[in-house]
Amino acid sequence: MPTDLFIAGEWVGAETGERFDVLDPATGQAVASVADAGPQDGLRALEAAAQVQPELAATSPRQRADWLNAAYQAVMDRADELALVMTLEMGKPLAEAKGEVTYAAEFLRHFAEEALRIDGGYQTAPAGNARFLVMRQPVGPSLLITPWNFPMAMGTRKIGPALAAGCTSVIKPAQQTPLSMLALVQILDEVGVPSGAVNAVTTTGAGALMEPMIRSGQARKLSFTGSTKVGKVLLEQCAERVLRTSMELGGNAPFIVFDDADLDDAVAGAMAAKMRNMGEACTAANRIYVQESVVQEFGRRLAAEMGGLSVGPGTREDVTVGPLIDQAAQDKVAELVQDAVDGGAEVLTGGTVPEGEGYFYPPTVLTGVSPQARMASEEIFGPVAPLTPFTSEAEVLGLANDTPYGLVSYVYTRDLDRALRMAEGLESGMVGLNQGVVSNPAAPFGGIKESGLGREGGSVGIDEFLEIKYVGIAGPRPADQEG
Ligand code: NAP
Repeated sequence: MPTDLFIAGEWVGAETGERFDVLDPATGQAVASVADAGPQDGLRALEAAAQVQPELAATSPRQRADWLNAAYQAVMDRADELALVMTLEMGKPLAEAKGEVTYAAEFLRHFAEEALRIDGGYQTAPAGNARFLVMRQPVGPSLLITPWNFPMAMGTRKIGPALAAGCTSVIKPAQQTPLSMLALVQILDEVGVPSGAVNAVTTTGAGALMEPMIRSGQARKLSFTGSTKVGKVLLEQCAERVLRTSMELGGNAPFIVFDDADLDDAVAGAMAAKMRNMGEACTAANRIYVQESVVQEFGRRLAAEMGGLSVGPGTREDVTVGPLIDQAAQDKVAELVQDAVDGGAEVLTGGTVPEGEGYFYPPTVLTGVSPQARMASEEIFGPVAPLTPFTSEAEVLGLANDTPYGLVSYVYTRDLDRALRMAEGLESGMVGLNQGVVSNPAAPFGGIKESGLGREGGSVGIDEFLEIKYVGIAGPRPADQEG
């Protein structure tokens, strides 16, 4: 298992020799020690990326697709081993980790296909006196920053399109979960991606490492997934060199259940939207609004499902809910639940931090959560489902949109007109209609408002790594008369 920095095709320690421990959140014990990069290491990695950029840009789309397809296959072949690494550093149960490995691999396969479809245009000017040639070229060396909650998929969602477009990159995973990314980068190296085309740096000093790279003038693009707070800081830094940016930021997803919904489906959807990744997902249902006449029944069924989950170390086969990422996450979830209870919410299941090692929090359902509770406006990032009753469509649309975030919303109803009104009225980049999971490598994932800029995945994901160049061509002169 690689634990060093990957710069210019070599595994190297940090210039200072510093290392840091990666902890298993189920035990709080170290599972590995990785290199702790400083600013000089980052700048060396970026230099390597910049040097190889012209060579990578000149490779054929087919060659880049072949690398991505080979990486897809290699990730799938090693799925069990990669899932175990992910569970050990991040905590999610093995089955979910394997699901993420497959999801991550799918981005590689998807962008292998997109590499072959980078197109352009040819057009006659309206006056007929010129021609427009439009081509799309790689943006250039790209900085990629990923969070800990999806340690591999958030990486392939960026490396896939970057490589497909012909952009070199320096990737910086979250300090809690560097191992999955290093394993991925090793695979990319093994399948023949040129040295320097993908570099990886791990660090405990994210700000000190990234800022000099962002301001250096050598990077042309920053793609970030993480919190809105850090995203705003990075946008300011990127302004100095006018870097292209893609920002996948925080969410505060409303999950809305109308009284005409199929309640079994709605409960299953809420379980998926809430409990995927133990609630530690930007897409997690953060506010569950249920129409008054069905709120009691919905709450009863959801509490039964949530209460039936089994909490423990993700490496245990029977476990469906792993630990939260760290002590701070556990404390924050407990604090938000206490605040809601102080504001009048009732606990239907869960709600108490268990004794013992690890950062566990039980699946929890709260009813009667006031719209003024902190969890109505802050990301919970834990397995807590807060239910709030509503009476009318207009009221719930107002509540749902009353947030600076706009990543995803979920709606359960069997009324087509209402479904379309809601889908059009909700201020979010994505809407799940009678489904609790929207993530799909072939769909454009992303948010509006303070949830971000740009889209990842889908046919537009590669555009984030391409510049448009227009060539104005003098129109053809009339041919000389024969003879
Ligand atoms: P975070 O604190 O913003 O960290 C994200 C990444 O940014 C990590 O690699 C982190 O490094 C790095 N970072 C922190 N401060 C930085 C700085 N000053 N300069 C450069 N990099 C910096 O977020 P998180 O707690 O890891 O992740 C959870 C957040 O991500 C949630 O808000 C969630 O909604 C969001 N998220 C969004 C999406 C989406 O697609 N919209 C997907 C997943 C997660 P360190 O680890 O060293 O701090």
